[in-house]
Parts: sequence; C-alpha cells; structure tokens
Amino acid sequence: MTDQENPQQSALKVQAGIPPPESINLKAVSRFSRSKKGIMSPEEYAQGILAGNRTILSKAITLIESSLSAHYQVAQEVIALCLPHSGKSVRIGITGVPGVGKSTFIEALGTQLTRAGHKLAVLAIDPSSTRSKGSILGDKTRMETLSVNANAFIRPSPSSGSLGGVARKTRETIVLCEAAGFDTIFVETVGVGQSEVAVYAMVDFFLLLMLAGAGDELQGIKRGIIEMADAIIINKADGDNLAKADIAAAQVRNSLHLFPVSDSGWLPVTATCSAQTSQGINGVWQIVQQYLTLTQGNAFFTLKRREQSRQIMLDTINSYLTERFFTDASTIKLIKEIIPELIADKISPYKAAHLILEAYFSGLKMD
Ligand code: GDP
Repeated sequence: MTDQENPQQSALKVQAGIPPPESINLKAVSRFSRSKKGIMSPEEYAQGILAGNRTILSKAITLIESSLSAHYQVAQEVIALCLPHSGKSVRIGITGVPGVGKSTFIEALGTQLTRAGHKLAVLAIDPSSTRSKGSILGDKTRMETLSVNANAFIRPSPSSGSLGGVARKTRETIVLCEAAGFDTIFVETVGVGQSEVAVYAMVDFFLLLMLAGAGDELQGIKRGIIEMADAIIINKADGDNLAKADIAAAQVRNSLHLFPVSDSGWLPVTATCSAQTSQGINGVWQIVQQYLTLTQGNAFFTLKRREQSRQIMLDTINSYLTERFFTDASTIKLIKEIIPELIADKISPYKAAHLILEAYFSGLKMD
C-alpha cells in the first residue's frame, strides 16, 4: 500500500513526542493533579524554556495539552511568562493531501534551514488524531533526519479535543517554542478539511503542496484553500514526472490570475520542487524570503499578526461563553423544559432562545 492510499502513514502522526504513561494509573494522576507533584513552578518552566531546554519545553507543552485543570493553570502562567519573549519567528503553514510529500518536504527544507543556522520547530494539527486518540503511537518514524537534529524540534498534533481546542494548544505551543529560541516554526496539516483554516489563522505564510498529473489540477482541494495559499508548490518534480510538474505549475499559475489580489500586495507564487532530491527546495525558501521582504516592508506582516491576535481573543471569548452557557445546570434544565412548548408551537424558537439567554444572564447578575 502506498502512502497516498494510507493516510494513517502521514508524517503528522510521526513522532510520539512525550510518550504516554505505560498504564493509566488513576491514583497517580489524581495525586499528581492535587499536589502538583512532578510539576515545577511556572517560573521554573519559563526559565528552562528561555534557556532553550528541550526537555522542559516538551514538559510544558504536555501541560498545555493536558485536560487537567491544575495543569491548565500552570500552563497559562508559563505562557504568560514566555509571551514577552515570543513572536520573533517566522511561522509557516504547510498543507497538502496525504502522500503529497509534506514530511519529505519538511525534512528537506528543514535540513537546509538548520544547516544554515536556523532553529526549527515542526508542529502539526492532525484532524484524524483528534478523533481517534493515540493514532500517533506506533506509526513508523518519519522525518528521521530532522528528529535527531539538535536544531530541530518536532512535536506531533495534540491528539484529543475539538479542532478549536487543538488549534489553541498549537498556538500556545508556538509561543513556548519561540521563547525557547526557535526562529522558524512549521505548522503542518492535511489539506482535506477545516484544519487548514485553523492553521492559516496562526501563520505568516501559507504553503500548499500539490502533485502533477493527479487528475484534476486542483485535486479536490477546495478553492478556499487555494485562495489562502501564498505559494503553491508542485512537489515530486523529478524523473518522469518533471515535465508534468512544469505543465501543472503553468496551469495553476493561469488559474491564479482569476483570484483577487490579497491585501498584502503579494501575488501567490507557483513553483516546482522535488522534496526527494531537494531540487527546488532552496527556491521555495527564497519565495518565503521575498514574501517577508514585501510584507515586513509594507507593514502587512504586523497587521496580519495583530488581526490574528484580535481573532484569537474573540474566538476565546466565544468558546468560553459557549462552554459556560451549555454546561450551566439551570440552563440545561430550562432548555429541556422549553423544548416541549417549542414542539407544541406554543412558543417561537426566537422567543425561546431569548428567554433562555435572559434567564442565564440575569442569573449571572444576581451572583
Ligand atoms: P505526506 O503524507 O504528505 O507527509 O507525504 P510523505 O512525505 O510521507 O511522502 C509520500 C510518499 O511520496 C513517500 O513514499 C515519499 O518518499 C514520496 N515522495 C515525497 N516527496 C517526493 C518527491 O519529491 N519525489 C518523489 N519521487 N517521491 C516523493
């Protein structure tokens, strides 16, 4: 079976990162959460991270990913301490269908970057692992060279929670990695669903990898994803595929003319490369550099990050309110009581919604 046929082999599920406990010892977990045994102070984590200690960085990311509230509190304090030291990296989103060569590409580009003295963190958002916990484990190792590279840090997708929750954890992980001195952050995702929108919202540059000759030139990738891309790279431009890759690049280039020009003033670039031979990989990095020169020159880079911060704040408020509202016992009770009236047409859905909302917010005022 090829990797194309088996998305489970995706590089997104490669590195196990922090291995899970051998067995789930509930007693140990509850003792851990109560006494915070084994957890350092937020200052200790932050100091370790700022000193570039990868073990402490990994442990702090595990706290971010934990569903225990004691861990969450510590993680938030660590993030707050790291925040003033973050933001100095270039964040690049990399997407494409399973089998397009994302992990091979990251390995090739990452190796070049680290050789040039960059410090690279590779994170992932994997929608499939958020559904089936533990799918990261047991998969064969990919990015073998990068995973043992002292200047690279590879962390797989958080493996549980909603896409929104996973995206938050990845954003927070970016902050810690930046504070730890990583100047380049790759966020990898599979180009098949909503996860690329989440990745787009947290990166400076969005790169879409495609294949030549795989049927339709757009390969079922939604138009919206193409519109988000700052660069569309046709991978596997090697051997017999070389000519086909050039044709595919020309086709994509033509179709891009139909898209509106972005606010950045940047026109998405199409190029070919071979992640396997590294041919064209340097050219992809030059495209990123050109983008940075333009957008840092015209201030779009900063504006985009500010807009992302604003959106994160609004999204956080939104999810917090929703969570509080729908877990509130009297709200749950009221909804249950009103539904029969709604079904019996005794009350309109709008009126019912207003009643429930008013009950919730007036209850808050009385607290
Ligand atoms: P991912 O699922 O997008 O991460 O794809 P992989 O990086 O795992 O690559 C899928 C398959 O395509 C693997 O067998 C790779 O060896 C192969 N591959 C990746 N990049 C290239 C390339 O540039 N040229 C060729 N010929 N094969 C490649």
